Amino acid sequence: MKPGRVYLVGAGPGDPGLLTRRGEQVLARADVVVYDALVGKPLLRLARPGARLVSRAQWTGPTGQRRIEQALVREARKGLTVVRLKGGDPFVFGRGGEEAEALLKAKIPYEVVPGVTSAIAVPAYAGIPVTHRGHNSSFTVVTGHEDPLKPGSRIDWSHLAKTQGTLVFLMGLKTLELVCARLIRAGMAPATPAALIEKGTTARQRVYSGTLATLAVIVRREGVQPPAVLVVGDVVDLRKTLRWWEKKPLTGLRILVTREQPEHDVTPLLEDAGAEVIGLPAIELQYSRLGGETFLKDPASYDWVVLSSARGATWFKLRMTESGLDARRLANTRFACVGEATAGVLGVFGIRADLVPKNFSQEGLVRSFSRTDLRGKKVLLARAQEARDVLPQALKKMGAKVELWDLYSTGIPKDSRQAARRLFAQEGGADAVLFGSSLAVKNFYGFFNPAQRKKWLSDLVVASIGPVTSKAVRAQGGRVAVEPKKYTFPALVDSLVAWAQKRKKS
Ligand code: SAH
Repeated sequence: MKPGRVYLVGAGPGDPGLLTRRGEQVLARADVVVYDALVGKPLLRLARPGARLVSRAQWTGPTGQRRIEQALVREARKGLTVVRLKGGDPFVFGRGGEEAEALLKAKIPYEVVPGVTSAIAVPAYAGIPVTHRGHNSSFTVVTGHEDPLKPGSRIDWSHLAKTQGTLVFLMGLKTLELVCARLIRAGMAPATPAALIEKGTTARQRVYSGTLATLAVIVRREGVQPPAVLVVGDVVDLRKTLRWWEKKPLTGLRILVTREQPEHDVTPLLEDAGAEVIGLPAIELQYSRLGGETFLKDPASYDWVVLSSARGATWFKLRMTESGLDARRLANTRFACVGEATAGVLGVFGIRADLVPKNFSQEGLVRSFSRTDLRGKKVLLARAQEARDVLPQALKKMGAKVELWDLYSTGIPKDSRQAARRLFAQEGGADAVLFGSSLAVKNFYGFFNPAQRKKWLSDLVVASIGPVTSKAVRAQGGRVAVEPKKYTFPALVDSLVAWAQKRKKS
């Protein structure tokens, strides 16, 4: 059998936006993804659905590296496409070279997809350029892994001390004190600016600045955790003026997005504002090919079609198409949409919504019908199976002949409960959560037992899209911090930004 190809891919330092386009491409076609502990979880969502995700953490100890090389060879020999996803760049202290050698020896074809190395990107997110014309003309990346006192260390300290360029140490948190002392002993001025950057490019990024003489004390006092990059040199001082990342409104916030496809619309808005986004879908929508038969037989006989979500609009059109119908059959039918996004989807089909309420909710929709005579009118309500009854009841009261079409059903994504608990138990939790529907609220809180809710969710900042969703939050014992005036996700993000700016000031 022809072996599959192995891609050694750099994932970047943490911010998922720093993966290369080539990296994204090969991730999307991988059968197996073997990833390092430092690789951000959001990147794994870019893998093809159904791809096998293997954490490198399962091969630890002195034989770990050999076993991972064996695993790459074994999977490729099955004819599978394998992505080996490594933090930063695969060839910068990533042992990517050893893995390439093992693949070469086993005659497995491989490619390298370089990544954004933490050695440059992490200082950059701290506002420290590793080179600057006014300060230096080189930078050196050094491993801090080696014990600087070890006889036979391959690091030439006196040379390092003389480069006049920036020094960047990776894996140097444990040896920080020794590294600084060693550099001073080799002739560097104790007052040389130095900074340690913890968990760079993520919401948990912290920067500790000092000098070669003081940094170790500061870092010890603050209890810094790996991963961290040490930067030594005059450029460190540029941070005072060049810092940029901390100035974004949502920097430092880890935000959970509970809607069905978190990566689609709100995530870029939140990331632009500096947030770290974690997608944790609390709802899953299932398209259904049942129902709607009466409508599809004679669509022209309906006076109104009411659509209650963007997905509903998409699937409404899909069912029409699958039944051999197009928009011309609806020339005299009027359309009401619950919100802008739903109307937008409908617009793509060439149908302009006749009615979109100011308040994007079922209640708002009912109100917007108040000036329309619905007596005796045939109204189709295409919606989710589990939808609330507010709308059909109100329309019936207004004299309409309401027909319900359960266009899709909703469920709970199967991995979400486990992912939610793991996130809070082991992965540092989150600072805020975004809800777009009461159902998402109910499902999300249902992931946790009462003790877990108390421990993990008490301080969680809740941003809710509108009053109905907020009510659901309160029913679960939560407190709503943010609710926009307009019930859309972009407005929700704006309100969250405003809230964060106010909080920063106070
Ligand atoms: N191949 C990686 C480096 C692997 S060695 C790269 O090119 O970035 C692992 C070291 O990288 C860590 O000990 C730490 O020094 C550094 N590192 C990786 N990600 C980091 C991050 N987000 N913040 C700070 N340091 C990071």
